[in-house]
Amino acid sequence: MDTPESISCNQCEALMINGLFCHETGCPNSRKRFENGEWVLYLKCFECGCDVREGESCSCQDPPEPTKHWIAGAGLHGCLFNHCAILDSYDAAVDNLAQVHELGRTRKATLKRAGYLELNLKRDGNEYCEITECDCATPEVHQD
Ligand SMILES: [Zn+2]
Ligand SMILES: [Zn+2]
Ligand SMILES: [Zn+2]
Repeated sequence: MDTPESISCNQCEALMINGLFCHETGCPNSRKRFENGEWVLYLKCFECGCDVREGESCSCQDPPEPTKHWIAGAGLHGCLFNHCAILDSYDAAVDNLAQVHELGRTRKATLKRAGYLELNLKRDGNEYCEITECDCATPEVHQD
């Protein structure tokens, strides 16, 4: 923190009045903030109204962070998934596929270990299921 005593203006004969730092009228620094020994102009972001240092862009302008998600898919080899769900953790994807196919403990453990499991088409309705990690910014595109 800059104490008021350490602030000085290089553009005018500024005064401390009642503990407030006061520039002379028309001083180009009067709209700036004193930070680490220099006068910095802050501008309001048009989008969110945050104060942003002159010359820098507001964090609200950054592209959205890609969010990691896991695709739990099941279907026939060479076809699009019959079943597809987006989960936010690997374990949730394992649970999802285990539930849909009523996997027993052994098959669920195999799926969890390999991220992939051959199924029994007659019994399970699908030939295989697999879990794919993805970090695209639009997880909803995977689902119908
Ligand atoms: Zn000044
Ligand atoms: Zn902003
Ligand atoms: Zn994705």
